[in-house]
Amino acid sequence: MRIKELPADVVRKIAAGEVVTGCYSVVKELVENSIDANSSFIEIEIKSGGKEYIKVRDNGTGMEPDQTHLALKPHSTSKIFNIDDLETLSTFGFRGEALSTIAAVSRMTLSSRGEEKMGTTLEVSAGEVLSERPFFNPHGTSVEIFDLLFNTPARRKFLKSTAIEGRMVSEMVQRFILSFLNIDFLYVRDSQVVYDTRGTAGLEDRTMLVYPELSRRELIPLSESGEQIKIGGLLTLPTRTRRNRVGENVFVNGRYVRQFELNYALERGYGESLQKGNFPFAVLFVELEPSQIDVNIHPQKLEVKFASPAQVFETVKRAVRTAIKRVGSFTINVIDRENSAKKTEEKYRESDGLHERKYVREAGPLERTTKKVSQPVFGSYKQNTPFNIEKRYFRNFPQTISEEEREDKIRFLGVFAERYLMAESGEGLLLIDQHAAHERILYERLKEKSNLNSQKLLQPFELVFELGKKELIFSKKGRLLELGFDFELEDDKIVMVAIPQLLPAESAVETLEVLLDELRLEGLEDAEKVLDNLLAVIACKSAVRTGDKLDTGQARALLDELNERKLLVCPHGRPISMVIRQDDLDRYFSR
Ligand code: ADP
Ligand code: MG
Repeated sequence: MRIKELPADVVRKIAAGEVVTGCYSVVKELVENSIDANSSFIEIEIKSGGKEYIKVRDNGTGMEPDQTHLALKPHSTSKIFNIDDLETLSTFGFRGEALSTIAAVSRMTLSSRGEEKMGTTLEVSAGEVLSERPFFNPHGTSVEIFDLLFNTPARRKFLKSTAIEGRMVSEMVQRFILSFLNIDFLYVRDSQVVYDTRGTAGLEDRTMLVYPELSRRELIPLSESGEQIKIGGLLTLPTRTRRNRVGENVFVNGRYVRQFELNYALERGYGESLQKGNFPFAVLFVELEPSQIDVNIHPQKLEVKFASPAQVFETVKRAVRTAIKRVGSFTINVIDRENSAKKTEEKYRESDGLHERKYVREAGPLERTTKKVSQPVFGSYKQNTPFNIEKRYFRNFPQTISEEEREDKIRFLGVFAERYLMAESGEGLLLIDQHAAHERILYERLKEKSNLNSQKLLQPFELVFELGKKELIFSKKGRLLELGFDFELEDDKIVMVAIPQLLPAESAVETLEVLLDELRLEGLEDAEKVLDNLLAVIACKSAVRTGDKLDTGQARALLDELNERKLLVCPHGRPISMVIRQDDLDRYFSR
């Protein structure tokens, strides 16, 4: 066999396999180039998921005509000159292969203007420049791609469906929107504006744009700095989660990364307050000296190598923990009087008695020691609790329960702030989140059935959804029927005619949207898990809301069912209840 050198165009087609892994990767490379060119406005447009058309236009520094030609050549880059430059790299690109490879496997129109009066527009097909004409727009660059992979039909076949390609592009754009706050983005999909960041101010606004289902109140800022590292961003409260990691966005020096250890560190930061199978929404920025990371290890650059990984993960965890603690939704602080009195005494003895005032002041709030007295999980039941429940409390319960079980029973006391049921139990004073509790019960009930009851809508109505969502409804109709939804489908019109019986009509559309989000994972994740998630969504949307008034009877019924189903004893969803132990109260009141 003779060894031959491969012709250049074959080499480039092979290289295209690494760069063009889908329409999203083309969008990614082009937008990164625009960011590297200091743009403050980037417009992204796709048609048919990007398979038919992709455009990325920016107002960056642009290129002079000779440079525009050069940019199409393999391994041409303006970003590094020698290998040491990699050490201090602060741009996205450096391989100089994106434009040339994309050009090699598409029909491209590349227009750019730099500082000179006139720029140039090149018509390129399969890497060959077919024509050139002057370009007079203001400075900046525009790249249009038609028929991606048209000349490598085998590879074009590997592109996914229009809906999936389009969704992956949208997710890519979301990440840019979240991480480049000083750049405005306009994203148009099949002639519809999906995102326009103009008018947003800051990360919170952008997070709300990308995740309209979140409310501002659910977002917590975080910031932490250590040696050569800075962490910032936003998180959701531990009670506001989803069932997959799709909402966790981690950026290292502006680059989106998908690195298990980082996501794990983020989740660890939540500690106990984040229950198994629940994941927060997060936009997490990790900033390091460029010399502390190596981004050159992953072809799609979704992972980075850290000089001191343990320190990075630890700092992320700490940052999250501090942010969560500040909100303090899961612990209450009790002044430990005994302790503080003792310390005060010691101080007094040390001083000469003349500085009484001083010590009094010092023994104030600063002397408090705080103690964690509550547990989101209910398991830590103590046999020898000093708390004795009145006998009459047991009247309503069957006679057959054992002494031990009795201790677990609870007595309804009232409702606080229209959202927390108060009760007493063997362990102390119980506060129960009425929504979480109801949700949990509905979920258990739903799980006992295979098909959910459906309820016909008196007034069916048309759903105005973006294309991708509509496609999902078409393809997942069977599953949605099982859940109790029904639609009339004609062409691309979708009319909702029935919804799950449990579900209040006013939350039907919102619920459907969340379900579609979950259904996208079908086929990727274990079927049972997906079904579980779907049921959890319906349960959540059907449960009584915070602020819904429950009468005593309803509240009692809720508590009883929680108790019967043993859900208070071992919840594994988000926390349902909190307990304040009597000995903690006694200590507080110096009894
Ligand atoms: P890399 O980004 O790795 O340098 P590319 O093939 O993506 O390689 O781009 C090659 C070169 O073309 C870049 O180094 C840059 O000089 C120029 N370039 C590409 N896109 C733009 C743009 N949007 N604005 C200005 N210059 C660009
Ligand atoms: Mg590039």
